[in-house]
Amino acid sequence: MKFAEEGNINDLESRVVYTGICCYCGACGGFCTEYIRYENQLPTTDEKCFELHGACFDFCPRTFLPILEMEKAVLGGVRSDKDLGYYTEIISAKATDAAIHEQGQDGGVVTALLTYLMDKGEIDAACISKNSETEKWKPEPFVATSKEDILAGAGSNYEQCPTIIGVANAIADGHENIAMVGLPCHVQAMRKIQLSDYFDVHGDKVKYVIGLLCTETFDRDLLLAKLAELGVKIEDVKKFDIGEGKFKIFTDGGQIDEKIAAMKSCMREGCKVCYDFAAELSDVSVGSIGAESGWNTVIIRNETGKKLIEDAKKAGAIETKEMADDKVELVRKLASRKKSGNLKNIMESAGALKLLNLLIDPSEMNLLI
Ligand SMILES: Cc1cc2nc3c(=O)[nH]c(=O)nc-3n(C[C@H](O)[C@H](O)[C@H](O)COP(=O)(O)OP(=O)(O)OC[C@H]3O[C@@H](n4cnc5c(N)ncnc54)[C@H](O)[C@@H]3O)c2cc1C
Repeated sequence: MKFAEEGNINDLESRVVYTGICCYCGACGGFCTEYIRYENQLPTTDEKCFELHGACFDFCPRTFLPILEMEKAVLGGVRSDKDLGYYTEIISAKATDAAIHEQGQDGGVVTALLTYLMDKGEIDAACISKNSETEKWKPEPFVATSKEDILAGAGSNYEQCPTIIGVANAIADGHENIAMVGLPCHVQAMRKIQLSDYFDVHGDKVKYVIGLLCTETFDRDLLLAKLAELGVKIEDVKKFDIGEGKFKIFTDGGQIDEKIAAMKSCMREGCKVCYDFAAELSDVSVGSIGAESGWNTVIIRNETGKKLIEDAKKAGAIETKEMADDKVELVRKLASRKKSGNLKNIMESAGALKLLNLLIDPSEMNLLI
């Protein structure tokens, strides 16, 4: 991969962990179980390894991210859409199977695609997130190997899950054909793993990368505090959802809404510098914004994604329809809102930039160019 930098665990700690930009994707610890473990959702070590160049640094989406080079390598083209990245088509879709549609967060497309791939024998594992059996609503990486497993992970959990640990486990367990579902940070990590010139951890076994549109994830402690403030016990929550500018909490006792703007205070620190809404390096990205209730917005980015959607449709696993331009514009608007806000955060934390001999504050760039 062009523009790769070299670094080790010390560099990862000083540049990513101590600066508060770690996204807890699981890429560093997933592939280095010898030295790295996670504590309070951050990588930590009891003993340092002596490598000058480590896979932990190489795979992390927050150390360096040559996004346009990666886009070219993975998708075969460069974006003309700065908000949504490179894509070939945006459509609407939903699962046709009633049980999948019922259990899915929106249209159930992600679950339908995974079960279709597994039924057809195209994959032998799906790396997804599943809620913990011991801690209510705590997302955990999960390697699904059956339709029942995939269904057990359906639905959205708005906390961060170190999904890449599941990918590392699936590879270590000998799975040969893997699909993974992830947020933009997971997808970036997965592509860095696949494109690494230095470390081959068999990332090529991941044949399908399904991205989820994402504005942010919530910090567990802050979310629990918010629920307490709203008078909700996490044990009583049946579903969380985001839509119409609201964070919706469904319990047996009814629905409680909080303005999404009021949820900003619960955002994970590391999400504040994320410059990707639409999981721009996926084969296919799936979300809800812009779609009718019970449907998904689907962004097809490359041949793998196109074939997957076409084949799943032909097999009757999903139903699709066109998406009107004004609805696509809604997706773009939300992406733009995330990006412009977070770019400001990135610039503020970057400080003065050196461009050859010029030293310039990014916020004053427009005065010169
Ligand atoms: C943190 C988060 C933020 C999101 N923000 C937006 C947004 O701003 N706008 C928008 O349009 N859509 C957003 N989405 C996507 C949306 O919630 C649905 O996941 C998407 O529409 C797919 O719907 P579905 O019915 O096909 O999903 P399903 O068929 O229910 O499948 C969802 C899949 O996502 C996996 N998953 C659930 N939670 C996580 C997690 N935390 N990390 C990794 N994988 C997970 C599940 O294991 C499952 O495989 C977000 C999702 C998440 C998890």
